[in-house]
Amino acid sequence: MDEIVLDIENLEKTYPGGVHAVKGISFDVKKGESIAIIGSSGSGKSTVLRCINRLIEPTKGNIKLNNQIINNPLADVNEIRSKIGMVFQSFELFSHLKVLDNITLGLRHVRGMSKDEAEESALEVLARVDMLDRIDAFPGNLSGGQKQRVAIARALAMHPEVILFDEPTSALDPELIGSVLQTIRSLADEGMTMVIVTHEINFARDVADRIIYMDKGLIAEQGPSSIIENPNSDRLKEFLSSMDEENDN
Ligand code: ADP
Ligand code: MG
Repeated sequence: MDEIVLDIENLEKTYPGGVHAVKGISFDVKKGESIAIIGSSGSGKSTVLRCINRLIEPTKGNIKLNNQIINNPLADVNEIRSKIGMVFQSFELFSHLKVLDNITLGLRHVRGMSKDEAEESALEVLARVDMLDRIDAFPGNLSGGQKQRVAIARALAMHPEVILFDEPTSALDPELIGSVLQTIRSLADEGMTMVIVTHEINFARDVADRIIYMDKGLIAEQGPSSIIENPNSDRLKEFLSSMDEENDN
């Protein structure tokens, strides 16, 4: 039987102020699976990822990592974040640290590695994202695509159980999107377990094992990547045709 890495059960989030952003959603992620979450802006996609990574607390429901509930005030947040990597639209690199040090920081402080061990691990992941030639650069001197590849390397360095991507290419100039998508695609091919929130519908169709379409805080449709070509619900049909128009512009 396929091993379930992440199990999301009836997740709900109401923000202080009253926005009911996520209204009870459930899905699981099996080892080696890539799941794409698509949906309009404001449908609750980022809220789901932030709850999984413990950046915010769910209002209701459970999040289990390897069968252990992690939305528990007693759970060690640093340990959870080292097992659940996150890559953000805005990269979130430390601007005052060189590329190499952006990667070694977590390895030294969370994993307790020596400087030499951390640097060896960092070089290995920087090679995987094709950034070995810029290890001494500061983030401010990198292109957006390079910054995002460093952010992916930083997540990989911790050897996470799963990596969450929140619109990893939305802040990039069009000519830089390809290299980042290619990096994520190679991770999928290597069997990395991933949840990818993306507006790149063709990429989602090609890379994801399963697609989840969110609308207004709920899962409106989910299924294999063939639902992109043959959506069942009118809502997904409308969403996909609105994305086509956007891509044609
Ligand atoms: P998506 O990632 O699909 O665009 P979000 O999860 O960011 O959607 O947002 C879902 C809803 O929650 C939106 O209505 C948004 O305005 C609201 N929201 C997001 N973050 C906050 C916050 N920190 N405080 C209050 N409301 C928020
Ligand atoms: Mg979002």
